Amino acid sequence: MTYPGSIGYFLLPNYSRNTKIIVGVNGKKYEFPVVFKKAYFAIPYGAKGTVAVSLKEGEKNLFLKLIPVKEKKYRISRIWVKERKLTKKLIERIKKESTLLRKTLTSVTSKKFRENRFYSPLKKLTITTPFGAKRIINGKKRSIHWGIDLKAPLGTPVFASLSGRVVLARDFYYTGNTIVIDHGLGIYTLYAHLSKILVKEGQIVQAGQKIGKVGSTGRSTGPHLHFGIYVNGIKVDPILAFNLRSL
Ligand SMILES: [Zn+2]
Repeated sequence: MTYPGSIGYFLLPNYSRNTKIIVGVNGKKYEFPVVFKKAYFAIPYGAKGTVAVSLKEGEKNLFLKLIPVKEKKYRISRIWVKERKLTKKLIERIKKESTLLRKTLTSVTSKKFRENRFYSPLKKLTITTPFGAKRIINGKKRSIHWGIDLKAPLGTPVFASLSGRVVLARDFYYTGNTIVIDHGLGIYTLYAHLSKILVKEGQIVQAGQKIGKVGSTGRSTGPHLHFGIYVNGIKVDPILAFNLRSL
């Protein structure tokens, strides 16, 4: 079954260059490259009814597949956190960080992973806030929860979900100590609120390699790992990604 936030791939033995997978949702088009005879794609949040997935070579349509998308009910998540007064300096910092994150998560580089599945970043999965939850922070409606929150004791080891290159490993205002790994093909994973970062920007990591420790840095209510997956900037539900399959 396909849900909003799903990730899937096509095996395309006869196509590699100049071909693209296009996912059409509510009149909007999302493009995904075909590399090494494989094309990963994601179904954006908010997709309803049927999604048109087509393979294009230039303007030529090579095939079209209609995928029914099952509706998902999203939970409302209320949290209360100590909020610092936002000074001009802080607002500048937050703006800079969100631009950096957006730019990073939407750039497509060549393939860096060999695995056919995403590995769990923690040995034990205890989800406290699911993907897509509507966040209410200190009584105010905030953005949607673009990842999963996994409860774990302070210092629990965090592992890389796929092999790739660490592109960000630094402290962010909202997400605290954060690691972003580029897996190529527009696929990224993000690990937030860490108490410790054990890798450096530019470092190549293997799937399952220890990269950090669970913490409660940034805007957080207690020790947990916030884990996110992105494909060409589209937010993916990690729980659906753990069951990745081809279409
Ligand atoms: Zn979270």
